Amino acid sequence: MSATLVIGRYSEADRAALASAFDPLFLTSPADIAGLDAGLRAGITALAFKGHAPLDGAAMDLLPNLGLIANFGVGYDAIDVAAASARGIRVTNTPEVLNDDVADLAVALLLAQGRELIAASDWARSGRWKSEGEYRLNRKVSGGRAGIVGLGRIGREIADRLAAFKMEIHYFARSEKDTPGWTFHADPVSLARAVDFLIVALVGGAETERFVSAEVIAALGPRGVIVNISRGTTVDEAALLDALEQGRLAGAGLDVFLNEPGIDPRFYALSNVVIQPHQGSGTVETRAAMGRLQRDNIDAFRAGRPLLTPVN
Ligand code: NAP
Repeated sequence: MSATLVIGRYSEADRAALASAFDPLFLTSPADIAGLDAGLRAGITALAFKGHAPLDGAAMDLLPNLGLIANFGVGYDAIDVAAASARGIRVTNTPEVLNDDVADLAVALLLAQGRELIAASDWARSGRWKSEGEYRLNRKVSGGRAGIVGLGRIGREIADRLAAFKMEIHYFARSEKDTPGWTFHADPVSLARAVDFLIVALVGGAETERFVSAEVIAALGPRGVIVNISRGTTVDEAALLDALEQGRLAGAGLDVFLNEPGIDPRFYALSNVVIQPHQGSGTVETRAAMGRLQRDNIDAFRAGRPLLTPVN
C-alpha cells in the first residue's frame, strides 16, 4: 500500500483538499510519527509537511519507504534536506506563489514603522486625537535608501516595490545580478553603511545564521531601521534587541523571530518595533495557491511525473 502522511496545522480548506485527494493520515508534529505502528509507517511513501518543527534524519528513518517530502512553504529550513537526499527522499517546496504577499508585508512593515501606523491608530481610537490634537510628526520613507539583504525571488519583489517608492536600491546577494540602476554590495556591512532601511529576505538555515550581525547593525547606525520577513535566525536577535533598547538603531519591523511564537518579551516593551505574527504568506488566496502546489507535487510524484518545484 502507498499511503500519504500529512504533518502540520492546515486550514480547513487545505485539510479537506488533502483528505479528498489522498485519504491521508493526519498528524500535528514530526514527534507524533514514532507513535504510529510499524506497519502503517512502512506504508507511507509521501509526506505533506507544514510547520517549523525540525524534520530530521531520525524522523525519516521511521518511514522506511518514504520517497517524497512536499513542504508547504518556500522556506524548508526545518527539513534536513541533506538527510533526505542521503536516503533517496525527494523534497519539494512552494516558491513564487507567495512572493507578492511576503513583499507586500515587507513594505507594510516599513511604512508602519516609519509612519507609526499602530501608535497613530491608537491615538485616534483612544480619543487622544480629539482631546489632545494632532499626532506627532513621524518619518518619511519614500525617497530613502533601501538595502535588500538577499535579492532572491522575494527580495526582488520587495526591491521593485521600493523602487516605485522612489527609493535608492542597494542589495547584497552572493553574486551581482542584472539590476541596472541598483547598487550591488558583496559585503553586508558595506550595504548597511550605504542605506537607511535594511530589509532582510535571505533563506534561513545554518548558513545564514546571524548574517545580519552586530557589526551590520552598527554599520546601519542610529537612524537605521531593520525589516525582517525571512527567518528569526538570519538576524543576531540579541544584538538587535540591545541596539533597539539603547537607541543605536531607530526601529524594526519584524514578521519573524527566534522561538516563535514564544518570542523574547523584550520586543513587547519596544515602541519603535512593529511586530507581526509570522504571517508573510498568510492570505486566503496565497495559502490556497501554496496548498495547491504542495498537492500538485504529490500528484506528480505518485504519477511518476517530474516534480514541479524540487529542492533536491
Ligand atoms: P530565494 O529566491 O532562494 O532567495 C534567497 C536569497 O538568500 C538569495 O538572495 C540568496 O542569494 C540568499 N542566500 C542563500 N543562501 C545564502 C548564503 N549561504 N549566504 C548568503 N546569502 C544566501 O528565496 P525566496 O523565495 O526569496 O525566499 C526567501 C526566504 O523568505 C525563504 O527561504 C523563507 O525563509 C522566507 N519566507 C518568509 C515568509 C514569511 O511568512 N515571513 C514567507 C515566505 C518565505 P543568491 O541571490 O546569491 O542566491
